[in-house]
Amino acid sequence: MQNIFVKSVQTIVPLLSGVAVRQSRSIASLSALPETYQMLYKTCRDFAEAELKPNASKYDREHLYPGDAIKKMGELGLMAIAVPEDYGGAGLDYLAYAIALEEISRGCASSGVIMSVNNSLYLGPVSHWGTEKQKNEFVTPYCSGDTIGCFALSEPGNGSDAGAASTTAKDGGDKWILNGTKCWITNGYESKAAVVFATTDKNMKHKGISAFIVPKPIKGLELGKKEDKLGIRGSSTCSLMYEDCEIPKENILGEPGFGFKIAMMTLDAGRIGIASQALGIAQASLDVAAEYASKRTAFGKPIMKLQAIQNKLADMALRLESARLLTWRAAWLKDNKHPYTKEAAMAKLAASEAATLVSHQCIQILGGMGYVSDMPAERHYRDARITEIYEGTSEIQRLVIAGQLIKEYGLN
Ligand SMILES: Cc1cc2nc3c(=O)[nH]c(=O)nc-3n(C[C@H](O)[C@H](O)[C@H](O)COP(=O)(O)OP(=O)(O)OC[C@H]3O[C@@H](n4cnc5c(N)ncnc54)[C@H](O)[C@@H]3O)c2cc1C
Repeated sequence: MQNIFVKSVQTIVPLLSGVAVRQSRSIASLSALPETYQMLYKTCRDFAEAELKPNASKYDREHLYPGDAIKKMGELGLMAIAVPEDYGGAGLDYLAYAIALEEISRGCASSGVIMSVNNSLYLGPVSHWGTEKQKNEFVTPYCSGDTIGCFALSEPGNGSDAGAASTTAKDGGDKWILNGTKCWITNGYESKAAVVFATTDKNMKHKGISAFIVPKPIKGLELGKKEDKLGIRGSSTCSLMYEDCEIPKENILGEPGFGFKIAMMTLDAGRIGIASQALGIAQASLDVAAEYASKRTAFGKPIMKLQAIQNKLADMALRLESARLLTWRAAWLKDNKHPYTKEAAMAKLAASEAATLVSHQCIQILGGMGYVSDMPAERHYRDARITEIYEGTSEIQRLVIAGQLIKEYGLN
């Protein structure tokens, strides 16, 4: 944990100089964690207050990629938190990642998803399964925030049913030849490499899927239109269309036929990231709601004094804090090399549903002011919605949890 703190102190001071940072309340359970996590939290919170929160509505309104912010996040070590230092990462753990990503997403959910995809969906598998040569070429340059990666699993014909991939990778002697379309790819426009899943043996169904590291741009790849989304509008989402796209033979990630396993293991970790993004959105909504309720008067007193409003705030805090504990538990299990598939799915499900509920109630507490873009409540509400869809819908999380329970009870 030493590393990021040293890095943070060196870089955060000039980054924040001259900017008044509002000191906001801290997460209660954080004080139970080692001091280094608390320092990381404060670094990320101060950065988000100074650099992200003031710009988040502009990124959203103008569909603007937050390039400067991502670069600074790279300088702080936030774009490659769990990548070993030898390869240019911060060498931290997933609990640190969860804490940092929540704070970044609290400031700007678009920056949160860009950070999340680069950390867990792109760098995660490449740094874990990559060869030395692959890591030097496709990990180290992606740690600094200058360059980012993406993860291409979903297709127009299959999202939840990822094992039904129809994109193919044909063995062409000294190369692989890719054909097919991947859709909904976050960071699709800005990324310089993609982890792409394609079938190398259709007869083997999901056991015939392999993973490839594919540079961008590359001959044979066309990008689809930038999707016009409900939320997280500062991040780009588009299709990647491969037609006879030739990639070097050595760009396979892991063994042939190992791709589905890589995808599922990557998503287990990724769900801790999306849970953290959802927590950040929920926390931002609760902050707005509490502040507004303390100032807005109705019937001669602040609405905060009304029991109906207090009940809402209590339910919002309850959902948020219980989801945070599930998220931190999943991260702790991963960091300590315990199985965590069920716990990551629970964390993602609880946190994304909490974000939906908390941002919904935030609008209710703000009344008319919740419904207009002068206040961030409506953006949080729109941003929250995606956390119940990507990296496995809420229905799929329930299937994953039930599947693990069935195994635990020895019922299959
Ligand atoms: C903004 C955005 C960014 C994204 N980023 C990425 C990315 O970077 N990389 C990537 O690969 N993908 C990405 N995705 C794709 C995302 O992961 C999929 O949209 C998601 O997994 C759902 O797949 P689908 O849209 O095909 O829905 P479908 O699979 O068609 O599901 C439709 C509905 O049916 C339900 N359903 C499906 N199967 C079952 C079942 N067995 N039991 C119960 N209900 C079921 C679903 O829960 C859902 O409600 C992104 C999507 C969006 C919108």
